[in-house]
Amino acid sequence: VYDVLTKVNDNTWEVPGNFKPGMNVPGRIFVSKPLLDLLDNETLVQVANVASLPGIQQYSMAMPDAHLGYGFSIGGVAAFDKDDGVISPGGVGFDINCGVRLIRSDLTEDDVRPKLPELLDALFEAIPSGVGSKSRLRVNDTELDDIFVHGVQWAVKNGYGVKNDLAHCESNGMMRGADPSKVSVKARKRGRPQIGTLGSGNHFLEVQYVDKIYDEEAAEAFGLKEGQITFMIHCGSRGAGHQICTDHLQKLTQASKKYKIPLPDKQLACAPASSEEAQDYFKAMICAANYAWVNRQVIMHWSREVFDDIFKEEHGDLGLDLVYDVAHNVAKLEKHIIDGEEKKVYVHRKGATRAFPAGHPEVPDDYRDIGQPVIIPGSMGTASYVLKGCPAAMELTFGSACHGAGRVMSRKSAKQELRGEEIQKELRSQGIIVRATQPSLIAEEAPEVYKSSSEVVDVVHNLGIATKVARVLPMGVVKG
Ligand code: 5GP
Ligand code: MN
Ligand code: MN
Repeated sequence: VYDVLTKVNDNTWEVPGNFKPGMNVPGRIFVSKPLLDLLDNETLVQVANVASLPGIQQYSMAMPDAHLGYGFSIGGVAAFDKDDGVISPGGVGFDINCGVRLIRSDLTEDDVRPKLPELLDALFEAIPSGVGSKSRLRVNDTELDDIFVHGVQWAVKNGYGVKNDLAHCESNGMMRGADPSKVSVKARKRGRPQIGTLGSGNHFLEVQYVDKIYDEEAAEAFGLKEGQITFMIHCGSRGAGHQICTDHLQKLTQASKKYKIPLPDKQLACAPASSEEAQDYFKAMICAANYAWVNRQVIMHWSREVFDDIFKEEHGDLGLDLVYDVAHNVAKLEKHIIDGEEKKVYVHRKGATRAFPAGHPEVPDDYRDIGQPVIIPGSMGTASYVLKGCPAAMELTFGSACHGAGRVMSRKSAKQELRGEEIQKELRSQGIIVRATQPSLIAEEAPEVYKSSSEVVDVVHNLGIATKVARVLPMGVVKG
């Protein structure tokens, strides 16, 4: 089936506009040849399906970590005209504003190694994890509204973090335009007890060390240097976001019929961007996005307390600054130059990260001359990367990059083929400690279920979408 693809360059393949009937634009898959060979047919079909949605601009895109998702592939990027386009929950995903944040420190690998087991136990204890896990923080409905509308501002105001954290979150941890009245009672009920919880499966906390610097200037700006300890948090909007997606998918399924939008796949339910149905979803999606930022913020706050408890006496201030927080499941109204003209579009990034270049007004002041930090996790046993957004991203991908290494093995086959205890032991022998609620989770998330993070990152690096700044290696991982 890859015979149908046209090679544009070593890292870009085109899905011709006649690959499937109804495509409005061609598809573009950003992968190297070896990664292309790992891509399954269905992902390709999903790229083509998205290309048939009304008002899509330029190309239906897939990043090098792409794999099968709900309607849109994970790793999918699509921009729809603000007036003639659509908004689709499938292009955002169930875990609205799932994302990653990276925290730097003044600790070194040598400081932390001896205390690693203690540190992981304390983190595991402090941050509730697992399906349906509940938080020690309880919020009432008024506070929840405040969180939906004000995101990380709520958290900082309530003592979960410092003012500096705000500027280092995408959208300052607060997307504007939230409307809590578009969030159902059920979603609220699921959301109230889960702020500051990790969730399960793919979500993690990771103690890491910087093992390589590629770009001294950028690394310095991001506060990173070789041998230093970093900490990564990956999670999203928990039950609240999931319920918001579920609720609005139902409504948009109806709306697709009402507005007579031909859908090649019913999972692509959507509505014209300016319709009430689409806007209601968008306003609720923003609530979930802000909730997710608060979730990561509270987790970071508790993690800082854990680090302080263990290391502060000996090391003083640990310099636990937030490097950056990226969303990788979200839709945003953005301005892009399309065919030489500035246009407002709803960019859907589903398993894709923003990668805005130096000079862009949405890049934090202190990184403005460098570019936005792009955080790409690898796996519990392989490298994760920090990159910086570059100008080619604006030309090629609506300012987007990959969001991880991306799966090659399904959860189901991983559980059948791999044993959690063995993987844990093997990682242990490499000096990596893994804590999880269940061994089967370790199997589902084993390093071998993911593509090679370095190969994936090389694609965006070589295309100049985002270039490498630093590589970090895992030391200890808490899995939900
Ligand atoms: P997703 O948001 O699609 O669930 O996952 C994002 C990416 O996180 C995956 O594509 C994978 O590369 C990466 N990842 C999954 N588990 C871990 C982990 O334990 N540690 C690190 N550093 N990355 C992980
Ligand atoms: Mn998630
Ligand atoms: Mn995620």
